[in-house]
Amino acid sequence: MTIDDYAAWAASTAKGTQPPTHERLSYLGLGLAGEAGEVAEHIKKLLRDGTLDQAAMAEELGDVVYYWACLCAALGRKPSEVLAASKAKVERRLGP
Ligand SMILES: [Mg+2]
Repeated sequence: MTIDDYAAWAASTAKGTQPPTHERLSYLGLGLAGEAGEVAEHIKKLLRDGTLDQAAMAEELGDVVYYWACLCAALGRKPSEVLAASKAKVERRLGP
């Protein structure tokens, strides 16, 4: 499965309109932030307890990708293109 296939599947799991409503974008953005917070919680517990539940953290990373993919779809962007643009941006910052 490619990231674009995944995003198409993720978008199919919810009722979205084009263009997306402000409510829909807000819901997805808050979902993304919430899942990122769950990842951060695992890192906090690593600092506090010295242990990391890698499987649980990986599951949260999947949740992050779900909302990210849905946001890409809501914006009409192919995830592969968003990733390529991100790679190019980082490479520009890193320089030759
Ligand atoms: Mg989660």
